Amino acid sequence: MARTILTGEAVSSGVSVGKAYLLAKGHYCLTSVQNIPEDHVAQEVERLRWAFDKAQRSLEQIKSKVPVEQHEHAAILDSHIMILRDPKLRQKTERYIREMRLNAEWALEKGVDDVEKVFSDIDDEYFQARAHEIRLLTHRVMNHLSGNGSAIKPITSRVILIAHDLTPADTVELNVSKIMALSTAQGGKTSHVSIMARTLEIPAVVGVENVDTEVRDSDFVIVDGFQGKVVVDPDDEELEHYTNLKYQFESYRREVMRHRDLPGESGDGFRINVMANIELFEEVRAVLDYGGEGVGLYRTEYSYLNRHRLPSEEELTEEYSDLASIISPERVIIRTLDAGGDKIGKGFEQREEANPALGLRAVRFCLQHRDIFKTQLRAILRASQYGRIAMMFPMISGLAELGEVKQVLEEAKHELRQEGVVFDEQMPTGIMIELPSAVMVADLLAREVDFFSIGTNDLIQYSLGIDRTNRHVSYLYQPLHPALIRSIKHIVDAGHREGIEVSMCGEMAVDPYCLPVLLGMQVDSLSLNPQSIPVIKKVMRQLNTEECFDLLKRVLESDSVTQSNQMVKENVFKRFPEELLFYSSMLEKTP
Ligand code: PEP
Ligand code: MG
Repeated sequence: MARTILTGEAVSSGVSVGKAYLLAKGHYCLTSVQNIPEDHVAQEVERLRWAFDKAQRSLEQIKSKVPVEQHEHAAILDSHIMILRDPKLRQKTERYIREMRLNAEWALEKGVDDVEKVFSDIDDEYFQARAHEIRLLTHRVMNHLSGNGSAIKPITSRVILIAHDLTPADTVELNVSKIMALSTAQGGKTSHVSIMARTLEIPAVVGVENVDTEVRDSDFVIVDGFQGKVVVDPDDEELEHYTNLKYQFESYRREVMRHRDLPGESGDGFRINVMANIELFEEVRAVLDYGGEGVGLYRTEYSYLNRHRLPSEEELTEEYSDLASIISPERVIIRTLDAGGDKIGKGFEQREEANPALGLRAVRFCLQHRDIFKTQLRAILRASQYGRIAMMFPMISGLAELGEVKQVLEEAKHELRQEGVVFDEQMPTGIMIELPSAVMVADLLAREVDFFSIGTNDLIQYSLGIDRTNRHVSYLYQPLHPALIRSIKHIVDAGHREGIEVSMCGEMAVDPYCLPVLLGMQVDSLSLNPQSIPVIKKVMRQLNTEECFDLLKRVLESDSVTQSNQMVKENVFKRFPEELLFYSSMLEKTP
């Protein structure tokens, strides 16, 4: 094919150059609609059940081959096995066979359409991704119905995987050790394929329109996981450029990883704890592997979203205790449920909301579902005897709401005392500062809690008025916007005046460009995805507080985000050419 450059979203850093391996879109061929005679219905239902069972067993077999160190993979496969076991999809499909006398293939197609419709009505990236996953999983069932079983051809040499989309099961079956990079037509930052690519440190570009039709099997391609490009049939100049970039990045990562266990501190010894954000219990391993100094944000909602019912107090206590004891003696900050609005778990009562981001979310949801909330609070308290746990409440808007939340916490403590259950009476409690109203009353809130954690993902969304799930306004996501910088400075100062710790756990904490500014404000800790911890620690070691104070002063005086970005780039990052190279896409934003 002639030289072409395709673009998409860079979701895992790195560059790879090699031959394309094209995974065919769906591996089955849908037969024509057939109406079956009445006396074939039972047989057709049986055929459907058989195909579901075969698909489920093949996933179980794939899971048994997952190397032990790839916990994330195994956990995702488990959730897929659960989807195939879910009686709802089967029942819907069987009903189409019985009532409309459709053949199993078409009944399944209609059953999946129905499920997809329910999910696609929820305007949330997470649910869109799950809906798509269900469709991909049913391809496996279809393959069995059409007698193909798995049609994936084995990979024998190292390749660049190109696919319409990819399930975790596909990647296991494909043998990930042979995949140098990947690109898919579907997917976004939060889809499983992207999470997996980051965990396995495979360069990845997703959401590349038509990549699976433009690229042919064995084409020579480059995947640029920094800028989100797929270069097909590169010329000599591009080849040389990317080959050099690849070696440069690999040696940079090696160097960075060598010092991952050093403490997070500036060149002149100012200490900032560099902690990890995790969403799945299985990620705890990565916290230790990448030098995380504890867990600064455990997003607990996934334990609710992955199940078909609400988790019990026992289940949650076990999960939190295991986490605390593995991370001990370091700290784990468990954030209470940030669900509701657009993140509805299967055991929750659903309500339609016109503006879910402004709806019944986080503590608002919990205060209206006190049974669910109390169960979680009791579990966190019970787990607190197994390590250093702190509890954190999301989306607090002001003092009255905080008061209500603390009252439920007191009730939970009182109940446990009455039951003779031991827990850490001194367990610190903190709040996320992610609403502009909380910023304005930060001085009052600081008197009521032990720590603040700044959630810039939501703080930016609510302060600048940009829907964080809408990619058309993502160019406005600018952490160095004067309004944001002033807000953050105000929060840090308000917290410090009351002698409490101020941390940051939003994505701004991962951005090396923002680090000198945060160091200038003297935030106490940062919490970020485990894989980025070594990079942030490295940049931190090369900064000193005096220069950061000076830069912060000038950024605070600047009246535009362009000016602030430029200042940071020129004054600090000229010293960090590698970060500039590998993270430069962070500053170049256009509508
Ligand atoms: C945030 O809002 O910055 C944050 C860390 O919370 P989440 O991304 O889970 O909303
Ligand atoms: Mg948030």
